[in-house]
Amino acid sequence: MKCQLAEHMIMPFINGTLEDDKKAEFLKHILNCSSCYDEFQIYYTLQKMDEEPDGSYDMKRILERAIQDELKLIYRKRLCFILQKVVFFLAEICIVLVVIFGLDSCSK
Ligand SMILES: [Zn+2]
Repeated sequence: MKCQLAEHMIMPFINGTLEDDKKAEFLKHILNCSSCYDEFQIYYTLQKMDEEPDGSYDMKRILERAIQDELKLIYRKRLCFILQKVVFFLAEICIVLVVIFGLDSCSK
């Protein structure tokens, strides 16, 4: 991902409107690009200050926590998706076996 694209994703990410695939790409980029990370940190801090003007902040820690939470969420969603595929696959095998052996036992 290029920096220009990552910069365009900062606000959608903060507003929670970025799709999961793009979110994963975005996080991967900012974790490996210090200039985009700095830019993201500025916008994120401004957004938090806007939400809670009187709050006290350890922005570095809050930001790291937010990134880790997002990564965990993306990982969990992917894991659920894979498990769902496995369950559907096993269910299909069961149906096929029931059809084959069910029909086989009927013909005896
Ligand atoms: Zn960058």
